[in-house]
Amino acid sequence: MINYTDKVVVITGGGSGLGRAAALSIAKQGGKLVLVDMSTKGLEESRNEILAAAPEAQVEIVEANVTNEEEVKNYVQFTMDKFGKIDGFFNNAGIEGKQNLTEDFGSDEFEKVVSVNLNGVFYGMKHVLKVMKEQGYGSIVNTASVGGIRGVGNQSGYAASKHGVVGLTRNSGIEYGQFGVSINAIAPGAIMTPMVEGSLKQLAGDDWEAAGKEFVSVNPMKRFGKPEEVGNLVAFLLSDAAKFINASVIPIDGGQSYKY
Ligand code: NAD
Repeated sequence: MINYTDKVVVITGGGSGLGRAAALSIAKQGGKLVLVDMSTKGLEESRNEILAAAPEAQVEIVEANVTNEEEVKNYVQFTMDKFGKIDGFFNNAGIEGKQNLTEDFGSDEFEKVVSVNLNGVFYGMKHVLKVMKEQGYGSIVNTASVGGIRGVGNQSGYAASKHGVVGLTRNSGIEYGQFGVSINAIAPGAIMTPMVEGSLKQLAGDDWEAAGKEFVSVNPMKRFGKPEEVGNLVAFLLSDAAKFINASVIPIDGGQSYKY
C-alpha cells in the first residue's frame, strides 16, 4: 500500500534520531530524500547509514538552521531546483532545552526553544505549503510531543512550543485540506534518541541508564519507544495510504498519555 517510488520527501532534523529513522524507512521504500540539519556531521552519518541499507537511494543533504527563515527558503528552493516537487515534508527539527521550574527557566532559554521548535516549524510550513498548494497535493507531518498535549513539568519552553505545533497543525490542516494537502502532527512519548539520552544525563548524570529504566517503568509497555517505530509511522502518514488523515495529532507513546 505504501509506495515511495518517484516521491520526494524533505526531512528537517534529518541528521539524528527520529528524522534519520524516518529517512531510512522512506528510502527503503524507494523515496528520494532531502535531509536538512544544522549538523553536517549528522547529515553525513545519516546519508551513509541510508546508503548502506538502500544503496539505490537518492539522498541530498542541506545544512540549515531552521530558526533562520532565509535558510528555510533555501532548503525548499534547493529541493525544487533538484527535484521540481515536494510530496512529503517531515517538519521535525527540535531541541528540548534545560529542565527547570518556570520561574527559573530563563527567558533566553525560553526564546531559544520556541525559536527552534515553533518558529522553525512555522517557517517550514510557510514555504513548503506555497509549493504544495500550487502542486495541488502533498503531506506534512510536524513533530509535536506528549509534552504538546499534556503537562509534563519543568519544560516551559518545550511545552509552549510543542502545544504551539499542535495549534499550527490543526489551524493549517483545516486551511489546506481543500488544496489536496494533509497536515498532521505526531506526539511521541519517550523514544530513545540522543535527545532523550541528553535529557536523562541532565537529570541523573552517570546514573542515566538506571534513571531511564525508572522513567519507563510507569509506561504501559514498560519500555522506551524505538526511533524506527516513529520512522514507520511518519512514512505511513506521508504516504498516499494516509491521504484522508488531516489536522490530527497522533500519539506514539505506548499508551502513556492516556494513563492517569
Ligand atoms: P535528536 O537530538 O536526536 O535530533 C534532533 C536533530 O535536530 C539533530 O540532528 C539536531 O542537529 C537538529 N536540530 C536541532 N536544532 C536545529 C536547528 N535550529 N536547525 C536545524 N536542525 C536542528 O532528537 P530527536 O529525539 O530525534 O528529536 C526529533 C524531534 O522529535 C524533536 O522535535 C523533538 O522535540 C521531538 N520529540 C522527541 C522525543 C523523543 O523521545 N526522542 C519525544 C517527543 C518529541
